[in-house]
Amino acid sequence: MSRAKILQPDLVLGDIVIHLTPSLIQKYNLKGLVLDVDETLVPWKEKQLSPELIEWVTEVKQVTDLWLVSNNLSQSRISNIASSLDLPFIFGAAKPSRRKLRQAVTAMNHPLEQVAMVGDRLFTDVLAGNRLGMFTILVEPMVETGGKKKFSLRNFEVWLSQKLGVSLYKS
Ligand SMILES: [Mg+2]
Repeated sequence: MSRAKILQPDLVLGDIVIHLTPSLIQKYNLKGLVLDVDETLVPWKEKQLSPELIEWVTEVKQVTDLWLVSNNLSQSRISNIASSLDLPFIFGAAKPSRRKLRQAVTAMNHPLEQVAMVGDRLFTDVLAGNRLGMFTILVEPMVETGGKKKFSLRNFEVWLSQKLGVSLYKS
C-alpha cells in the first residue's frame, strides 16, 4: 500500500459530523461507527454537548452501533461526554496505533469494512482506521465559533497528505 493510500479516507464528508446522515450511513452499509471525540464531536476544551449533536447521536444510534475512541488522556473528560451520550468509550487510544481501536471494533462484532472510523484528523483517525482495514470518514473539525485562528496541525496534515497524493475533495 502506498503512503497516499494509507491516508486516503473512503469518504470525505466536507462538513461537520452531524451531516453524516442515517441515509448516508445506510448507503455505505455501515453497521458501526467509531467516533473520535475532540474536534469531531466537541470543540477542544468544550465540555457542553450541543443540542444538535445530541439529536444526531440519538438518530444515528437507531441505524448503527456507536463507540467513542479518543486519544485524549483525560478519562474524566471522555467518560463524561460518553455518559451524556450513553455510549461506550475508550480514552488514551494513541491512534494511529491500532491496539485500542481494535478493542472497540471487536466489541462491535461487525465485519471491519462495515465499521467506519470517523474523525477530523488524517494522521491519527484516518491512518488508524485504514491500518485496521476499516472504512474511514474524514469530517471537518468542530471548532468554537469566533475562536482565534491559530496554526493548525490538521491543516498541515491536509497539506502534506495532498502532497503525497491523497485526494481530499468532498466525496
Ligand atoms: Mg479529533
